Amino acid sequence: MRNSKWNIACALVVLVFMGAADAQTLRPAPDSIEGHLAAGKNASGGRDDTPDFYGLVTALCVAPLNAPARPDAPAPRENPNRRSTYLEPKKAFDDLYWMGTPSRSTWALTTGDGIILYDTQGVYDAEDVIVGGLKKLGLDPAKVKYVLISHAHQNEVGGAKLMQERYGAHIVMGAGDWDMVDESINGFPKGKPKRDIVATDGMKITIGGRTVTIYLMPGHTPGTIGGIFQVHDHGKPLTVAYSGGTEFNFVNDVPHFDTYLASLRKFAAIAAAAGATIIMGNQSQFDNAAWRLRMLADRRPGEPHPLDVGAAAVARYFKIEDECAQAVRLKLLAK
Ligand SMILES: [Zn+2]
Repeated sequence: MRNSKWNIACALVVLVFMGAADAQTLRPAPDSIEGHLAAGKNASGGRDDTPDFYGLVTALCVAPLNAPARPDAPAPRENPNRRSTYLEPKKAFDDLYWMGTPSRSTWALTTGDGIILYDTQGVYDAEDVIVGGLKKLGLDPAKVKYVLISHAHQNEVGGAKLMQERYGAHIVMGAGDWDMVDESINGFPKGKPKRDIVATDGMKITIGGRTVTIYLMPGHTPGTIGGIFQVHDHGKPLTVAYSGGTEFNFVNDVPHFDTYLASLRKFAAIAAAAGATIIMGNQSQFDNAAWRLRMLADRRPGEPHPLDVGAAAVARYFKIEDECAQAVRLKLLAK
């Protein structure tokens, strides 16, 4: 009897603390630069064993702003030591595989009728990381039917031409990013992918009974896209929100930040409505994919999948982006 009372008391204490943490995270920030920076940092988690997003908050609320890429930006550099950065490709879920480096991710969603690939590394890495990676995982690169490009920066679009030309895969990109590809002067030293499928809001890419629903989220680039899809963890379905672009390396003015904020709020609401408990993207710096997948080998029975961070953590991810963007927007307004 005493024990069960004690347990109830402990549970209540835990609930009160959880309530306090939630209230702290969800309380509206004072509408000041400092207020939004503090709220962004406060949403980064990592305390009380909550999943953390330190890489995200550092890039958005702490690090200096990056300038946008220009059409005449220098050509991608071929790093002579690039192979030393390639990590072992991994089976992430029953039907989702990961290939990449500590900084960039490519994901392969397998279906009964081919593969949907998400993001394609840099131009000099695509052959080894993607083609080599798929083969290492026992997957056939020729089965890739669709390649979704979250946004057309060098390290996401680099392998699009290879997959299109060699394997006949369809490339899906936002209209604004197809324009970026067309306008780029030096960005494609091995040639550009040919304009193919233009992503539209709510577009469904379906093969073999599996669907990725695409949402336009202009901001990081004009044609950035996010996606919602399901994966399976030992048979259990889980919903992924794939966030298309993150950092503020676009034209730094108030209208561009307004666009970015509107897109991320739209996609955050879509992710919440879809019940997403996994936040995923093109850079491990933000979703911690590379090291979370290494933790898989040590996973004990009954433990959640390391990438299954929960709906509250997914919401915090978007809150960090929101608060940090609001802070920069206010700085720009004050100029
Ligand atoms: Zn980018």
